[in-house]
Amino acid sequence: MGFSASVSLVWFHRDLRLQDNPALANALASGAPVIALYIHDPMTQWAPGGASRWYLHQSLLSLQNDLSAIGIPMIFRSGEPYEVLGELIRQINVNYVYWNQVIEPDRMVLDQRINSMLQGEGIAVENFPDDTLLPPSQVCKADGTPFKVFTPFWRHVQRQLQTVDFSQRLIGAPASAKAVIDYDPNSIEKLRLLDANPWHEKLHNHWQPGENANLNRLSGFLTKRINGYGHNRDFPAQEATSGLSAALHFGEISVVRVYDLCQNLLNHETNPVTRNDIHRFLAEIGWREFARHVLVANPQTHSLSMNPKFDHPGMWESDAQDSILHSWQRGQTGVALVDAGMRELWETGRMHNRVRMVVASYLTKNLGIHWLKGARWFWETLVDADLASNTLGWQWVAGCGVGAAPYYRIFNPELQAKKFDPRGEYLRRWLGDELAPPSLIDLKAGRERALERYNQFIRA
Ligand SMILES: Cc1cc2nc3c(=O)[nH]c(=O)nc-3n(C[C@H](O)[C@H](O)[C@H](O)COP(=O)(O)OP(=O)(O)OC[C@H]3O[C@@H](n4cnc5c(N)ncnc54)[C@H](O)[C@@H]3O)c2cc1C
Repeated sequence: MGFSASVSLVWFHRDLRLQDNPALANALASGAPVIALYIHDPMTQWAPGGASRWYLHQSLLSLQNDLSAIGIPMIFRSGEPYEVLGELIRQINVNYVYWNQVIEPDRMVLDQRINSMLQGEGIAVENFPDDTLLPPSQVCKADGTPFKVFTPFWRHVQRQLQTVDFSQRLIGAPASAKAVIDYDPNSIEKLRLLDANPWHEKLHNHWQPGENANLNRLSGFLTKRINGYGHNRDFPAQEATSGLSAALHFGEISVVRVYDLCQNLLNHETNPVTRNDIHRFLAEIGWREFARHVLVANPQTHSLSMNPKFDHPGMWESDAQDSILHSWQRGQTGVALVDAGMRELWETGRMHNRVRMVVASYLTKNLGIHWLKGARWFWETLVDADLASNTLGWQWVAGCGVGAAPYYRIFNPELQAKKFDPRGEYLRRWLGDELAPPSLIDLKAGRERALERYNQFIRA
């Protein structure tokens, strides 16, 4: 490998940025030469899906470029992180390892194992909980238990944030690092993030990965589209939301920076309508935060329903599930808004939030298919696939999660289309003039069957 001097290692996870990066800033402050590392583990239960891997690949290339411009080489490794790091510290003379934690249960357990291993080898370790505004360990109800309802959670977090000093986390991008000698470049291709079949080329039309592109997107959103966000965000034909979910998932921009910029706007904004828009946007950032806190408090819920009654096999329809699931995945259900949403997802790797709710409600309630099958499809096809937000979203719609929509509330996709796409622009964009296939099921009959199942298995 050829690193002779002792180095500080910055292990990047979901913090693919230079600015506001406590791990990177502290590594640079150590005075030793800095090397950046990324480990991709394809074998974990929720390893990134196809669309997400495409974004990750592009984002890592951008990060590698930005780091190289300030003299920091980046190495890529594939495998189980505990083993990869164990092997790496035998090859390189590492004195310190720094990283920003991912706030997900399995990652947090792994972090502890790796911390002990590195410390056992005499290597100093520093972790920073930078993926959320506040670490889950600092947020609980008066009785010491975790919040289960969003509104009191967010009120509590906002109150606490008034006294938090973010100056340690709002950090300018570093100008340069002490050079590393004997650097062997290592190609990102080793990670094999991209499928051999180039289906993902089309995603370039819809996403701009990388820190700088997304800092620009953030400032563009906050100067223009934030006005009217509170109302317009529900209309899928409009480009009214920030489009920052993938950037926030991969940490190309920090959630603290987003929060701080919104606070600055609020400090100067006097128009009550715009103030409301900013608060509405912040509340969505709050949902992201809530999703992480909920997953940490309920670590199995990425695969099990929070309300175990929902995992009773009788709760879900089993007849011909696979072909019905396939029709849903391909946007061939005969229900216009559902099909439009599923095609948007397949084509672009994104789906508007309101449409996500509608397609998820249709799958779990009208079709009676387990939410996990929908969550898995989203995982494979969403560019912004995020374990905490996806789990929360699916369990919320299915009615089995915390603060969930009542399970007996079933979206009517036709009414939703009339209300939120009144001129049919969104439907035309994704369905064109195509004749709709015959409807998979009668919406009303599917709804009634769902209510019967709820009476039998949930209410009982
Ligand atoms: C069934 C279902 C599955 C979902 N899966 C994901 C997922 O895998 N990854 C993901 O990031 N979001 C998920 N969401 C939440 C939401 O749909 C997306 O975050 C949003 O559509 C992204 O668009 P935007 O960045 O333009 O959002 P904006 O409206 O601009 O919101 C700003 C940011 O707030 C966060 N946010 C917004 N809404 C939510 C929400 N309901 N829950 C959690 N965070 C939110 C996102 O980070 C988003 O970028 C899901 C929602 C549902 C109903």
